[in-house]
Amino acid sequence: PLKADGTESASGKRRKRIGVLTSGGDSPGMNAVVRAIVRVAISRECDAYAIFEGFEGLVQGGNLIRKFGWGDVRGYLAIGGTLIGTARCNAFRTREGRLKAACNLVKNGIDALIVCGGDGSLTGADTLRSEWSGLIEELVKEGQLTQKEVTPFTHLIIVGMVGSIDNDMSSTDLTIGAVTSLHRICEAVDSISSTALSHSRAFVIEVMGRYCGWLALMAAVSTGADFVFIPERPPSTDDWESEMCEVLGRYRKLGKRKTIVIVAEGAIDKHLNPIKANYIKELLINRMGLDTRVTCLGHIQRGGSPCAYDRNLATSQGVEAVEAVLESTPDTPSPMIGIRENKITRQPLMKAVQLTQQVAIAISEKDFRRAMELRDPEFADDYDAYIATTTVDDYSMLLPEHQRLRIGIIHIGAPAGGMNQATRAAVRFALNRGHITLAIQNGFPGLLDDNVHELSWIDVDGWAAKGGSELGTNRTEPDIDLGMIAYKFQKHRINALLLIGGFEAYASLVMLNAARDKYPAFCIPMVCLPATISNNVPGTDFSLGCDTSLNVIVESCDAIKQSASASRRRVFVVEVQGGNCGYLAVGATSTYIPEEGVSLKTLQADINHLTRRFGEDKKRTSSGRLILRNERVSDTYTTSLTADIIQTEGRGLFDCRTCVLGHTQQGSSPSPLDRIRAVRLAVKCINFLENHALSSLVLNETSSTRPKIFNNQKESAAVIGILGAHVAFNPIVDLIQDTDMKNRVSKKAWWIDLKNLVELLSKWGYTEDHS
Ligand code: ATP
Repeated sequence: PLKADGTESASGKRRKRIGVLTSGGDSPGMNAVVRAIVRVAISRECDAYAIFEGFEGLVQGGNLIRKFGWGDVRGYLAIGGTLIGTARCNAFRTREGRLKAACNLVKNGIDALIVCGGDGSLTGADTLRSEWSGLIEELVKEGQLTQKEVTPFTHLIIVGMVGSIDNDMSSTDLTIGAVTSLHRICEAVDSISSTALSHSRAFVIEVMGRYCGWLALMAAVSTGADFVFIPERPPSTDDWESEMCEVLGRYRKLGKRKTIVIVAEGAIDKHLNPIKANYIKELLINRMGLDTRVTCLGHIQRGGSPCAYDRNLATSQGVEAVEAVLESTPDTPSPMIGIRENKITRQPLMKAVQLTQQVAIAISEKDFRRAMELRDPEFADDYDAYIATTTVDDYSMLLPEHQRLRIGIIHIGAPAGGMNQATRAAVRFALNRGHITLAIQNGFPGLLDDNVHELSWIDVDGWAAKGGSELGTNRTEPDIDLGMIAYKFQKHRINALLLIGGFEAYASLVMLNAARDKYPAFCIPMVCLPATISNNVPGTDFSLGCDTSLNVIVESCDAIKQSASASRRRVFVVEVQGGNCGYLAVGATSTYIPEEGVSLKTLQADINHLTRRFGEDKKRTSSGRLILRNERVSDTYTTSLTADIIQTEGRGLFDCRTCVLGHTQQGSSPSPLDRIRAVRLAVKCINFLENHALSSLVLNETSSTRPKIFNNQKESAAVIGILGAHVAFNPIVDLIQDTDMKNRVSKKAWWIDLKNLVELLSKWGYTEDHS
């Protein structure tokens, strides 16, 4: 138990006081940052202080610096912007302002500051730290503070977190808020696309990003836009106007009825002249005769309620920030919390800031190669992937004829967001390399029916934003007739295979690989791209579709929680999908997942917690509560029985309702993150198939120009996945050891820690009395 007087921890030491402020432009997820920091700080026996209005609050002090308790951040997770306010504070840019800030920090006993903002805010915070001892000395000399007062504050701990919709910070893949902003952009571009299609119009869409083209590029990747302009990579030619019109004309000739051009607000040509949306519009009207409109998305891009990814990112990084405070020493440089793929990182803050500032310098010096390099390594890859999956008839990418493959593409399992986008990207990139892409419709039964046809560039147009499965998918695995499937591979001369799907796709690859000894037709490169909302495929932390699904669940839960809160004393048991994998269920007061099971004891503990919480809440100000229950967690404690038990045990103090989200969880349109991941991974899959084909070319005795492939090496049958900080291909035979084939899940569930964290932040052991 914590000491209630707030000065000492149970161990008798002075409690550390951690301040948190949000600064610079607001971004979705900043509230989730504050919530996580406050609650983790309290759970780690520290006091938490919210500093209102950014650095202005530090300079002015008084009521702008307030101790925050557990309950003060209730409901913060779902709210956009920043509830503790942000401001541009000129006073803090001066030493005089920072002197006042130092005085207020000491007076409030705050010895660590977590700042969430952009590079300016982090620079300001680090300056305060570097000047700290001088500022303290001056305050004592001026008599504003006594020596005794300052003695415990020999140095200031600073930890930086990056909140920015632009995703413009180096040394981190993503900043908090950028993905939500991308959600808003994609929704807008998807809507505009439908009207553009109806009227056969062109639209030029301006998005935010003065020095950073991330939003523009990712919006183009996600929506399948026809052309993009970003500051870091201006068009390479002087006459880019003609080049653009030529490219867009080519798409129109192939049958496209709409044209979408995305332009970052800081887009420039190679001589640093701005490229503006209205100028592009005039070009499209005058040179191409297209009915063209301009849409400037503006402040809509600030985002509103954060998407699932930003809530998770803000929470995980908030936890890491508090840990960094606790581990900090006077000698360690201030850290900045970042993320690399799926791994939370710490980097020296000022190094990241300097790298970021060099981007603008590199652009101003026309060193565009360096500007691209200074972004995270994926940025250049994503740009190349965008070009490779958008352009048509680009002969520079073609392989020699004898290296061109016949690539079969098949969807297996239930539909998942991003399957179509992955197929679109694979087809377009493969065609640009000279391969033939064969759609195998309706899974393995479709193959047995010879439901196989070639896909062209225009066939996959518009698939970026489409949910479901355009190829048709089902759960049938190849053991329905392995011999016949081998024959069909030969018949259609398939010499490389891309399987897109969930655990059934994984299991299919296990079978095809195991049958290589018997059927040489399977001795070809084969790769599985995991796509399932259940996120249960071994070899990857994320499968395509799980982000889309999480967003559906998060939005539904926000609505359910609002309803529960309106009736004040209501608990909802929400049933989510996921098969035997509990990943989707993470994120509420309590979660019941197959990995841990549910028992009478669990229910009793939760009922006790709910009784205590609602019982303490005499004024009925408390919000409703959610329990997320995975569909397969228990045959006995079904959703309705669980709710009945809670309702009865609530004894009138609270009531309980159920909500089964069902197939809505597949989502209608894929989330931007699923669309981006689909393109990145699909392009890597085609590269994988090429590499493993190339290493196993059999000089062909027949007249066919297409190569004969024989590859039975284990590395040539693999699963692509995001694993920690990396994207990796793992041979299927190696992954089998980590697989629970009976329950159809990976034995390693990396996200279990996340569940524990979510529960800690939602409830356990802490009430207003302790905060
Ligand atoms: P965004 O990416 O949204 O622009 P930012 O943090 O870079 O975010 P800025 O306006 O540059 O936004 O900085 C926010 C605040 O941080 C400033 O108003 C100022 O108070 C403080 N700040 C910025 N740069 C410095 C600096 N060099 N020294 C001291 N304080 C600074």
